[in-house]
Amino acid sequence: MTPSVEQALVERILQRDRHAVGRGISLIETGSPDGISLIKALYGRAGRAFVIGVTGAPGVGKSTVVDRLIALLRGNGHHVGVVAVDPTSPLSGGAILGDRVRMQAHVGDTGVFVRSMATRGQLGGLAIATRDAVVVLDAAGYDIVLIETVGVGQAEVEISRVADISVVITIPGLGDDVQALKAGLMEIGDIFVVNKADHTGAQQAVAEIETMLEMQLDESKTWRPPVLLTQATTGDGIDLLREAINQFHAETSPLQSQRRRNRDRLGLWQLLQQHFRREIETGDVLRSGEFNEILESLSRRELDPYTAVETILEHTLRKGE
Ligand code: GDP
Repeated sequence: MTPSVEQALVERILQRDRHAVGRGISLIETGSPDGISLIKALYGRAGRAFVIGVTGAPGVGKSTVVDRLIALLRGNGHHVGVVAVDPTSPLSGGAILGDRVRMQAHVGDTGVFVRSMATRGQLGGLAIATRDAVVVLDAAGYDIVLIETVGVGQAEVEISRVADISVVITIPGLGDDVQALKAGLMEIGDIFVVNKADHTGAQQAVAEIETMLEMQLDESKTWRPPVLLTQATTGDGIDLLREAINQFHAETSPLQSQRRRNRDRLGLWQLLQQHFRREIETGDVLRSGEFNEILESLSRRELDPYTAVETILEHTLRKGE
């Protein structure tokens, strides 16, 4: 991309041109150097959006909830960007998240932008790409950005660190899901939603989550996560979800600044790690084939991993001189 083309793209993104926003996110997704220079140009213009993470197992109703939430937020005059991240399925290309359905619902509404992003194989890579996509949407003036993630596991925890608030969605009758909740989602949830209130066992599911929250109750915490019941298909309870999000936003500003600082720190480390690794793998820090030679020496036990790292670090530092 020539500087003038990039400048034009930046201008159009700042004017919330949806085509340009889409192109910007594509550049980020493919990890191209153009994506990096775009972020360099936009970073200073971002930082105002409130970022809401929505996570839960496939089929619990995330897309339906998000769709309802978009409608409420639009009604309040917000501009809403949505990034649907699919860390579990490299093949689906994010299609599992059903963005096309949502896109149709909001087609023609220039105040909404919905985009799926698929995995790039690496957990850290996905978190970096998600963070960068948020920068683009934020700079474009989407003042609320929703990040929807599927699956249960480390990926959600990683991606939740990009968000200002995390909403964890579950449904009645997922006995195992409650176990899964214990394994990580309990810690990241600022709001818990039991969706499909029309299914039997909904109240029981709410009670179970409340019990678990009681058990990990920490007096020093400033925010006590509420457990809400929704029926996304009819929209019941979505207004309560919106209120709970508002309340979190209004009441926890020290927590939010602390999270943003952590997010910046984590983001910087992730980027440093990624770039350092890339430099070792593709840069001219090591001779061609030297990395493999080091590996061979390790397997023959002629070299230990600590000495290997020291050697590589020395090479890197010498290169920088
Ligand atoms: P996601 O995979 O978590 O994004 O889930 P979807 O939003 O695609 O919803 C999965 C299915 O559950 C769809 O067929 C929805 O219509 C349905 N669904 C969503 N919310 C509710 C609800 O409150 N009650 C019932 N009965 N079905 C729902």
